[in-house]
Order: sequence, then structure tokens, then C-alpha cells
Amino acid sequence: MKTRLMAAAAPLVLGAALLGGFSVTAHAKTAEKIAATYSGPFAKPSTLPFHAPDFTQYKDADWQPAIEAGIAAKRAEIKAIAANKAKPSFENTIVAMERAGTLYDRAYNVFSQLTSANTSDALDAIDTAMSPKISALNDDIYLDDALFARVKAVHDSAEGKALTGEDAMLLATTYDKFVHRGALLSAAQKVELKAMNLEIAKLETAFSQKLTTATAAKAPIFDSAAQLDGLSQAEIAAAAKLAADKGHAGKFMLALDNTTQQAALTSLNNRASRKILWDASVNRTSGGDAYDTTAMVTQIATLRAKKARLVGAPDFATYQMYDRMVKTPAKAMEFMKGFVPALRATQDREAALLEAAAKADGGKSGGQAIKLEPWDWSYYAEKVRKAKYDLDENQIKPYFEVWRTLEDGVFYAANKTYGLTFKRRTDLPVYHPTMRAYEVFDADGSSLAIFYYDPFARSNKRGGAWMNNFVEQSYLLGEKPVVSNTLNIAPPAEGQPALVSFDNVETMFHEFGHALHGFFASQKYPSLSGTNTARDFVEFPSQFNENFATIPEVLNHYAKHYQTGAAIPPELIAKIEAAKTFNQGLGLGETLSAAMLDIQWHQLSPEEAAQPPMAFEAKALAATGLNTDMIPPRYKTPYFRHIWDNGYASGYYSYIWTEMLAHDGWDWVVKHGGMTRANGDHIRKTFLGQGHTKDFAELYRDFTGHDPEVQPMVEARGLAPKAK
Ligand SMILES: [Zn+2]
Repeated sequence: MKTRLMAAAAPLVLGAALLGGFSVTAHAKTAEKIAATYSGPFAKPSTLPFHAPDFTQYKDADWQPAIEAGIAAKRAEIKAIAANKAKPSFENTIVAMERAGTLYDRAYNVFSQLTSANTSDALDAIDTAMSPKISALNDDIYLDDALFARVKAVHDSAEGKALTGEDAMLLATTYDKFVHRGALLSAAQKVELKAMNLEIAKLETAFSQKLTTATAAKAPIFDSAAQLDGLSQAEIAAAAKLAADKGHAGKFMLALDNTTQQAALTSLNNRASRKILWDASVNRTSGGDAYDTTAMVTQIATLRAKKARLVGAPDFATYQMYDRMVKTPAKAMEFMKGFVPALRATQDREAALLEAAAKADGGKSGGQAIKLEPWDWSYYAEKVRKAKYDLDENQIKPYFEVWRTLEDGVFYAANKTYGLTFKRRTDLPVYHPTMRAYEVFDADGSSLAIFYYDPFARSNKRGGAWMNNFVEQSYLLGEKPVVSNTLNIAPPAEGQPALVSFDNVETMFHEFGHALHGFFASQKYPSLSGTNTARDFVEFPSQFNENFATIPEVLNHYAKHYQTGAAIPPELIAKIEAAKTFNQGLGLGETLSAAMLDIQWHQLSPEEAAQPPMAFEAKALAATGLNTDMIPPRYKTPYFRHIWDNGYASGYYSYIWTEMLAHDGWDWVVKHGGMTRANGDHIRKTFLGQGHTKDFAELYRDFTGHDPEVQPMVEARGLAPKAK
């Protein structure tokens, strides 16, 4: 299993969902007036099924007025709740807040996906202008004394204490969010906190934009095709096209992947080219030039540490973990350190294996035996993989065409497990012509959700893969889910099919696990609905869903040769299975070191956070006990977007924690008969349809009957022999 991002559409998951709709109090008239003076395309719900966004209606000039009107309306709605003269009640305070912000959510849920997946200079500029206003809005809500007084009154009241089920959870999470955001601070402290939040939000947006620009700008240029020996003709043609597009006709450019490791490193025969690509990747934002983000990182880390101190937390990591399944940074670090001895041994064993392969292959790298370097790891790993497992990506790819994989694989598994069916909807507008839209039907034939698929990489799409909701399910607001999956699969050359690596096949199943979590949402309140769960729980359904990719019945249904239609040969499947535990020194190693780096960054005091960032990174990586010289973290500090912008600060460990849940949960499925409708119903009933209606540990126990155990993951990762 690999780590993938489930980025929420809204940068502030907590704030965005909490506030929807119009309350029917006198003060809400102000909000209605504001909304009434706004006449853009978001003034009313879309007329499309499920209020799906009508992408034919939106122009660049529409966004700012819509978001500003949404912010103003939401602010007025919240003010009305705070100023209500009636005695605070669960309904007139907590539930009313759930109803506030309809216009804002309607516009922003679309806008944030477009700025992520199909952006432009115009959209980026609006994003920059809006982000401090959104941050200020959330502060105005959570630091509103009158509003918090009402929330606290309900929380402390007999009515509040008597609530049960989803109502009780809504009250508890709402109260906790206020406290987390500083509601118990003094007036002067609140002013200070607001200023800090504004500054942090600006820096996070600036970091993210600079990183996107840098990643495009630092794509290395090669003079000759010979330097790219080892890449396929199609890849070389794509490199020539990219260079020409960027004004370097006749040369070759390799677009940088988000991560430290670069896909092309597995096949570039020219060692010097590998080093050029590697250096471009790891130094993309630390070269002391206009693309350098290290000063921003220092500022963000320092401000976060100051913020934690202000709100009375020992450090920012502790502050962040208040609503997690893992409650403290210490517990997260302890969990991760548990892997280190076996993983370090695996890294050392694999390094020796690859070094031997490199020596044996000396002729290709300049005629002399070489010392293995980080840019050689993936190249020789691929060679050893081929030799040892006879597994060649180019042999596999023809069996995985993107749309067949989606419709005959991902959808098929959901049909067999949950009874879902899918119908292509070419009548629904999309924001890019390469996307597809589907209507999702439940087992009883009723319409369940709308689902969009945006698979291909573009220069105006940020890296990674994610799920987002355009519309969130909520019985209170009468909304059904409108969900999207976005990936970064290399687009096919003109007239060619889009073939995907097996790694990307797993990503497709992964993101669809998030989509299922959205489809099955069955909550009254939007803020508890679907994927609105803790960082260290939300990746559980997605990683769990990856398991379906290799169930023989599923694989045989979708893995068919794009030219001949022949099913994937069983030998090839056996090889994929056998190769799964290979190269874990890198696979788990780069994720674990990134996760430990993240926590360490956020355990610093403000004074410590001001030290030179690369020096701190070196210390933090040495402290992991892993071989981070040869296998650096999946993201190094200056391009670690998850933690500096995407809300995964002290949360990157979540991928490993949830993977542990996914393996342990799958162990339950295997022991209970595998892919059956009965198991599907159990999965849906116990956690996939539960949103955040219960404590996460309880949801997990409802599913498997026990607390999570690490052994299935240790075995699945090949770090210990399988106990059959
Ligand atoms: Zn994910």
C-alpha cells in the first residue's frame, strides 16, 4: 500500500463543513439580504441532479463575488445565532450553526477543486485574495464570545448532557472545536491568535503556490534523446513536447513528480541523467533562488509553535491531535518506532542487494564499479525486481487501461461488495473534457450519488491524488453526495490508450475508497457526514479499498490487454503478488521517515523552530534510526506540501496508522469469507456509512470486534514471515 493524499476540498475541514444554510431567525434577514443582492451563478442551488455543479455557468469573474457574498452571508447568519435573545438550546445554537453557510459552501466547494485540479493565474490570484478572508471568517466564528457563551451554555446544560447519538457527538465536537480554536482565551490573547492565524494562512498559501511553480520550473532539460535512454518512445516524445511547449524546442524536459523519488529514475540508463533528475527533485525549493521555500518553512513552523504556546498546548503536534484516533504525538512516535528495527534491517539488506547489482552492471555506468547513490536505488531496484521477480512494468501496463480499470475493476468490486451500479452521464457538464461523470445507484436501485473522475496529469493540476465533495450529504440540509476523484496519471499520446502502472491502479482503488466513504454518508449533520473524520481515520476506508485491486475475481474482470482483450496471465498476477513485498526499505522507509520528520518539526518550541531548517531536518532524520541518506523521506522539508499547506501538520503518520487499520481490517474480511455482499453490508453498517457519529476506536471495534493489531501489516509489508 502506498501513501496518497485525501485532500479535503476546503483547506479547513473543521470550519468549512460546520457552517451551512439559513436559519429562520429575525437576524437571518441580513443574510438573506446579502444573498439577495448577490445574483451570480451560485445564488440558487444548481438545477442539475443532486445540485451537481454546472460547470458551463462559471466564469473567472464569478468566483470572487460569490465567495465574498458567501462569507458575508455566513457571517450574518452566525451573528444572528450569537445575538438570539431566546435561551440557548441545541436547536437554536448548535443545529442552527450546521445550517449556516450554504452560499459559501456551494461556491467554495467548486472553487477549491478548480484551483487544485484546473487552475489558472486568475484563479490563483482569487485564491490568494480570498484565503485570509476565509481564515478571518473562521476566526470570527470561533473567537466570538457571545456565540461561544451560547455553545458553552448548551454544552453545560441538562439538555446538552441528555443528548444521545449523533446529536451528542455534534455538541461535543462543536464545543471541542471552539476550545481548540482558542475560545477559552482572554480578549487580548484572542487578538493575538487572530493575527497569527491570518499570517499562517497567508504563508501556507504562498508556500503552496511557490511549490507548484517551482515543481514546474525545475523540470530538468536534456540536450539529447540519448540522455534519456531507457525511457519509452512515448515518454521521450512527451519530454520533447514539454520542452517545446516551454520554449526549448529540440530539447527534452522531464516533468518533476511531487515526491522525492521520480518515476523516470527506474528506467534512465544514463547515470548522469539520473543524478540531474534527482538533484532537480530534492533541491527544487532549497536552491537559494526565487523558488526557495525554506524561509517560509521557518516562519510557518515558528508561528505554529507560538500558536500552540498561546493556546496552552506543549507543542503544535499535541495541539493538532486533540480530535485524532491516536491521541498524542508520543503515541504516534511510539507506534512508528515499532517498525524501525525490522525496517532498518530490510533497508540494509536491500541496499547490499542493489549495490551488488550496481557493481555487476558497472559497464553501463561508465565502465567502473560504482558506489550505490540515492539516484541509483530505484533504477537497480527495478533491475533486481525484473531479475528476481521477472516483473517489468511495461509488461504489466498493457493490461491496465484507465477507464476499463475504473469501470470493470473499481466499480465491479463495489458492485460485488456493496451492490452499487454506475451509469455514465455524458449530459452532466465537466470542467475538463478528459473527465467522466457517473450516477451511482444503491443496491435497491435508488439513486445514491454523483461521481466525477478526473484522471490525467496537467500542468495546471497540483500533484497527488485526492477525493473531494462538491456537495456534502446531509439529511438536515436535504443534500445527497456529489463526489469527485482526481488523479495524476500520465495522459496518453494522441490516439493512444491511457495505460497505467500497477501503482496507479492501486491509487485508483484507494481514492475510490474515499469516494465510497462519501457515497455511503448517512448523517443528519453535514459536519459529521462521510469523510469528515479524523486525519488518522480518514485514510482507513481508502487503504482498505486497495485490497480489492488484487482479488483474483476482480483482477480477472478488469486486467485485460488493451489490444487483444486477453485476460492478464496468471503468471503475471503471481509475479505482481510476489513483488509486492519487494523494495519495502524504500516503500515504507520513505513514508515512515517523512512521518517522523513531520512530528519532530511540530514538537519544536518557537525558539527551536527558528534554527536553519535543513540543519534541523538532518538532525531529525538521523533520529529516526532509518537509512535516510540512501532513502530520503518521501517529501523533504522544503517541498512537504502535506504538512506546510494541506492540513496534515503532525498528521502524516496517519497514512501508516490507517494502513495498519486497513491490513488488520482486511484480515477480518479474509477470515469471514472475502468479497461477499454480507461482508459489504457489515462494512457499510459499522464504519463506511457512519461518518463521525461515534468515537473512531469504537467504529473500528464495531467492525472487527477488537482493537487494531499491527501484525497483519508487518506481514503484508514483508518485514516478518507470514504466520500461516
Ligand atoms: Zn487517501
